[in-house]
Amino acid sequence: MIQFENVTKRYGTRLALDEVSFSLDPSEMAFLVGHSGAGKSTLLRHLVCLEAPSEGRVMVGNFDLRKLSPDQLPMFRRKVGVVFQDPQLLADRSVFENVALPLRAAGFDRSVIPARVKAALEQVELSHLEQALPGELSSGQRQRVGIARAVVHKPALLLADEPTGNLDPELSKKIMKLFTQFRNHGVTVLIATHEQALVEAQPFRVLRLDQGRLVESGR
Ligand code: ADP
Ligand code: MG
Repeated sequence: MIQFENVTKRYGTRLALDEVSFSLDPSEMAFLVGHSGAGKSTLLRHLVCLEAPSEGRVMVGNFDLRKLSPDQLPMFRRKVGVVFQDPQLLADRSVFENVALPLRAAGFDRSVIPARVKAALEQVELSHLEQALPGELSSGQRQRVGIARAVVHKPALLLADEPTGNLDPELSKKIMKLFTQFRNHGVTVLIATHEQALVEAQPFRVLRLDQGRLVESGR
C-alpha cells in the first residue's frame, strides 16, 4: 500500500529524511516513532503530496506520487485520511457538518452525505452528539470527531500525526482501539507518535526514525 524507495528530503542543508526505504502492506498497522525533529511529520507529509522527495520515490497503492497529475490528485486524496494532533474543527459548525466537510469538498452526491456521516460518527461512538458544537465537547470527543472526519470517505490508508498528543492515557488507549478497528476492516494505518508507552502496549510493527534515518523497520 505504501512504498518509500531511498527517499531523501533536504531543507537547505538540513537532512529531514535520509535515504528512507520501507513498505507497508495493505491492512497493515504500524507506528512511526522517533525523537522530536526525527522526521515523522515530514514522512507523513510526503504521503499526502504536501512534500515531494529531493531524491527517491514514494508509491501509495498504484500511484507514483512523482507522476501524479493535477486531475489525479482528487482521486488520490480520496484514498487517504489524515488525523492531526489538534483536529482544528470549525467552531461555528455542528459535529455533523464538520464531519461532512470533506465529502462536500470532494463533490460527493448530497444524497449520500447523511448516511456516510452518521456511519462515521457511529464508528467513533458520537452519534448522540451530531448536533453539538465543538466547544461543547471534551478534548477526547473532539479528537474522535477528527477521526470520523478522516474516515468519512472510507480511505484505504489512514495516517495519524501524534493523534493522542493532547489526551490522557485512558483516552489514548480508546483512540488506539479505534485505529485497530479500522485496521481490522482492511484499512492500512500509520501512526506517528513519540509516546513510547503507547507503542509498547501494542503488538504492531514499529518504524523508528533517528535524525531522518530509518534505524528500525520491524522487518
Ligand atoms: P518530527 O515530526 O519527527 O518531530 P519533523 O518532520 O517535523 O520531525 O522535522 C524533521 C526535521 O526537518 C527537523 O529538523 C525540522 O526542523 C526540519 N523541517 C521540517 N519541516 C521543515 C520545513 N518546512 N522547512 C525547514 N525545515 C523543516
Ligand atoms: Mg511532528
